[in-house]
Amino acid sequence: MFTVTLKLVVDTKRNRVVFAESEEEFVDILFSFLTLPMGTIIRLLNKESSVGCMDKLYKSVENLDPKYLETKACKTMLLQPRSEAEIPCEDLVVNADDLMPRRHYTCPTFGCFIKNKLYSSFRGSPCLCGKATDQCGLWDKVENNAKNSVFLKEAATYVITDDLHVTRATTITTVSLLQKLGIEDADVLEERIVDVSRNEVLSLLKSLLLSKMPFTDVFLQKKESVNIHKEENDMVETAQIKSEVKNEAIQSRRIRVKVVEDKVTEEAVFAEAGNDFVDVLLSFLTFPLGSIVKLLNHQSSVVCVDNLYNSVELLAATGDCIKTEECKDMLLSPKLYPHFNCDNQILKVEAKLSRRARFYGCKLFGNKRVGTVYINEINPKKANSSTKSGGGYAKRSVRFMVTNEMDVKPVSLVSEIGAIKELKVPISSLVEKEVELGEAEVLNLLKACLVSSNPLSKLFSP
Ligand SMILES: [Zn+2]
Repeated sequence: MFTVTLKLVVDTKRNRVVFAESEEEFVDILFSFLTLPMGTIIRLLNKESSVGCMDKLYKSVENLDPKYLETKACKTMLLQPRSEAEIPCEDLVVNADDLMPRRHYTCPTFGCFIKNKLYSSFRGSPCLCGKATDQCGLWDKVENNAKNSVFLKEAATYVITDDLHVTRATTITTVSLLQKLGIEDADVLEERIVDVSRNEVLSLLKSLLLSKMPFTDVFLQKKESVNIHKEENDMVETAQIKSEVKNEAIQSRRIRVKVVEDKVTEEAVFAEAGNDFVDVLLSFLTFPLGSIVKLLNHQSSVVCVDNLYNSVELLAATGDCIKTEECKDMLLSPKLYPHFNCDNQILKVEAKLSRRARFYGCKLFGNKRVGTVYINEINPKKANSSTKSGGGYAKRSVRFMVTNEMDVKPVSLVSEIGAIKELKVPISSLVEKEVELGEAEVLNLLKACLVSSNPLSKLFSP
């Protein structure tokens, strides 16, 4: 099993990690978290991330009959979203993500593949002939002789505080660091060396989403992180969310949603909406963590993630630490995987262009030299095997019910009655109203989904 070594300086009196010191291999792993799509994080943490209502949203997709989605492959895209950085991340000493990054699928009929030259990154995408792509292949790996670092230049030492501020060891002195962290007595400090394997990497991922001291949680207290700040956060966020709505103005496109709310408490009970609103929601699962921090202007409310993001920005601005401009973009403005963009998504997260493979023919066309052959990627969201980007996940003709806790299902009067019953309020106190969402509201919804387990009431109540 691969491990990476980490040196911890521990305050033995308070049983806390003061800071960690490591080479680029470990910091690469931390930074790679920014490239992971939200759905991948939920999957890796076994739907127990406790990030707002994201676990619930993920489970909704799991429970959703694929007939309510544009194609069968949509479900896989949402439950196992892929990342534009997945191939570089293969070189991490310990990779949190366990999906095979170079996998792709072609038509089971070889003749059809030769003729139409189509592939998909997902099993079950509709091929032109009507069959589903299920012939699995792997893109060739370009072998590197030396084990390269991924995002950072080699042979550098970094200092990482317990709340994940990462700095180059050369730019900070021990004295100033200890003073900054409020350490008075050097006698209480002790050095510990820990080996970090995939288990610890996943624990760190979980912990940094909830806690302000992930190293202490994972290496000293050996507990799965506890969400101490959640309730308190919820309160603060509600105030913030509302003030932000007012600040934004102009909007090109807006989405209409019907909300049923309790007149007395002014809390939303559930919303009824078309595929446009559901696409907005579902695609949150496909957003890489770094793109969420960028969209929310460095204030995702997930403290350690914001700190990690800001650290990359500082390292990129001040030192020659980040390997290339491309690496920097992968962390600070991570793109969606090809074809993961949605026409209905109001928030702008760019998708990577899909790969047009060249010379692919030599191997697949019976080792014959067929010269340059291009094959094109099918958009798995489109039923007509189009290679054009865009489209959406939720079926266009379906109306959906979204509960306050982000359970998404097709509209049914029976389940609506269930939701109303749970409230235990007289029917006469319920009102229906129409609300419109533009970019500002969708940003607030995204933020509410990160911090709250009932984002609808937070968003729509006055
Ligand atoms: Zn085919």
